[in-house]
Amino acid sequence: MASTAPLSYSSYHTYAECPLRWKFLYVDRLPETPRGYFTFGRVVHTVLEDLVRPFLVPGARRTAVGEAQRTLDEWHAGGAAPSEVRPMTSEELLAAYDRAWLSEGYTSPEEEARYKALGRDLLLRYYKRFVKEPPSPVAVEEHLEARWDGIPIHGYIDRIDRTDDGGLEIVDYKTSRELSGEDARASEQLSIYQVLVESNYTEPVEGLTLYHLRSLTPHRVPPRPREELEVLHERLGTVLDGIRTEAFEPTPGRHCGRCDFQSRCPEFRAVPATDEARLMQLVDRFDALRQQERQVGEDLRRTADELHRAAEQFGVHRIPGSSHVALRRREETWQYPAERLRPVLESAGLADRVANGDPAQVRGILRDASVDPEVRRRLAEAGARKVTWYWDLEDV
Ligand code: SF4
Repeated sequence: MASTAPLSYSSYHTYAECPLRWKFLYVDRLPETPRGYFTFGRVVHTVLEDLVRPFLVPGARRTAVGEAQRTLDEWHAGGAAPSEVRPMTSEELLAAYDRAWLSEGYTSPEEEARYKALGRDLLLRYYKRFVKEPPSPVAVEEHLEARWDGIPIHGYIDRIDRTDDGGLEIVDYKTSRELSGEDARASEQLSIYQVLVESNYTEPVEGLTLYHLRSLTPHRVPPRPREELEVLHERLGTVLDGIRTEAFEPTPGRHCGRCDFQSRCPEFRAVPATDEARLMQLVDRFDALRQQERQVGEDLRRTADELHRAAEQFGVHRIPGSSHVALRRREETWQYPAERLRPVLESAGLADRVANGDPAQVRGILRDASVDPEVRRRLAEAGARKVTWYWDLEDV
């Protein structure tokens, strides 16, 4: 059995992408080729930690014996009050950057110089904003561990800030080229951090932020709801089960392009020379057919749309061709948006009769004579009808 050390986001994500790559990294401990952009990210994180750490304020931590609050008095005994803290100067910041700089992983001196200049620019711009509006961090680069309903997890969190309302905001710096609000919304890394912080702090998590350093843009989203965390918990459980049972199948995909272990991977074994040409032809044919399929699909959609427009223009649902007649059919579905359905069901005490707005279950209530007619009327009004048209062909 493989060890079941706590899962970090990175370990979870690696296994979910390719279990064999996970094994190469976490069991065989094979080294990866250093990459300049990772080194760059590490250096920038180190300098930001130096900049932010003097501004730390107390946070309420959970302890093994219950909940404990570090008091401001205790904290003041060991450091200056937030208003008295002097940030490092921009010269000190750049000196810290020079000291932290690592040359590992760049493909050429030119590339390294480009990254170095990018880092100076990015840190100076961040610094200006930071001194104008310093945050109230309760933690920087903090390592947190938790047992999440039986699953051990851990992670290093760039920054945890105190919000104006007394809650906590998790901040993760990103040095990537692009970043969007959708990235923050979908980030499983932030979800895992939320669980880690909720397990280790008594204050509520009020926000999750991916901070895009290149554009100085904080992409802030609300904390994940329970249902979303439950889905992630299930995924982590599946990964943990896979690790425990040593299920290390290779799972090829686009990610193979950045995998250092192709030479060890069975998926990258050469096919026998005798079959190589035949298999290549098969793949090429499959590729060509796929392209044709896509093209046919697009043509089909365009033609159907044109027929729909003609049907509406001439007010007909039957258009003859030379060997078949096209018949325009209608399909009707009802949808019950949760925000409209829930209040009616809850006020009538019927919430447990409908799961996820299932239209069949709603129809069951609409036909149920024992339900108050007024409730059924309101229920019917909560629905929205969706009409879809499609074409059939029949012999002339
Ligand atoms: S090359 Fe692809 S399939 Fe093979 S170990 Fe790497 S990621 Fe997995």
